[in-house]
Order: sequence, then C-alpha cells, then structure tokens
Amino acid sequence: MHGDCETGRCDNMVVRCMDFRFHGQLPALLAAHYGVERFDHDSPGGCGGAMSLIDGFSRYVILHALGLAISLHGVRRLIIVDHVDCGACGGSERFSDLEAERLFHVQRLREAREIALQRHPDLEVALFFQDERGISVVE
Ligand SMILES: [Zn+2]
Repeated sequence: MHGDCETGRCDNMVVRCMDFRFHGQLPALLAAHYGVERFDHDSPGGCGGAMSLIDGFSRYVILHALGLAISLHGVRRLIIVDHVDCGACGGSERFSDLEAERLFHVQRLREAREIALQRHPDLEVALFFQDERGISVVE
C-alpha cells in the first residue's frame, strides 16, 4: 500500500537535504528500488537529511511536519536520506575517502532514526545514502 488519491493517504514521508544536486533522481530511485510510489516531504530548507533531525532547531520543524503527516495522511514510514558531499556536514573534502564519509553518514542516520522513534515508536524508519551512482540502504 503506497497511498490512495481518493482518500488522501500517503504511507511515506521523506526527510532529505535541500541540495538540488540529489533531488531529481531521488523519487525514481526510491520507486525503482524500494517500491516507494509517493511521499510527503519535509519543509523546504532542511540541511543534511539526518542532520535536520539531530539539530535541535530543525528537529522541532521536522517532527512537527512528521506529526501532521502521520495524522493527516496516515504516514507510517519515515525515509531519511543523506548524500555524498553534503555541505551541511563539511563536504567530501572533510573525509579521507568515500568509505569514511559513508560511515559518518551511517552513524548520523542511525542517530536521526533514534530521535524519530523516541517521538513515534510505531513508525517504520528507512535510512538511505545517496551518491552519484545511486542510492543504497543503510541498516
Ligand atoms: Zn546536503
């Protein structure tokens, strides 16, 4: 079940970075690889997907939007997407290599998942890392 136009239901909400370089491909990648047909989106201006839940100021905004998405649209899954070379996290040049950068984002994504689950324990939370090659699941 991915949503229904007649009822206004939507199963997914995506929290991602504001970085335009990764927006165009994301809906198609999520649909093709993970069956996500549509999603509510966090408020514009979120920097660094996981970072927007970890940072106290934007966390308030994101959790408010998530609460609305759950109550108004029946969202049951939160999808958090981090991406390579994220300026909110210092960019790729901050890391020794791609693996170190990915590991950093894995840790941040897991931290963000815990924050979301503290507020909404019944939520399913899916974590993804996006780079120029595509998107991959973070366990
Ligand atoms: Zn970013």
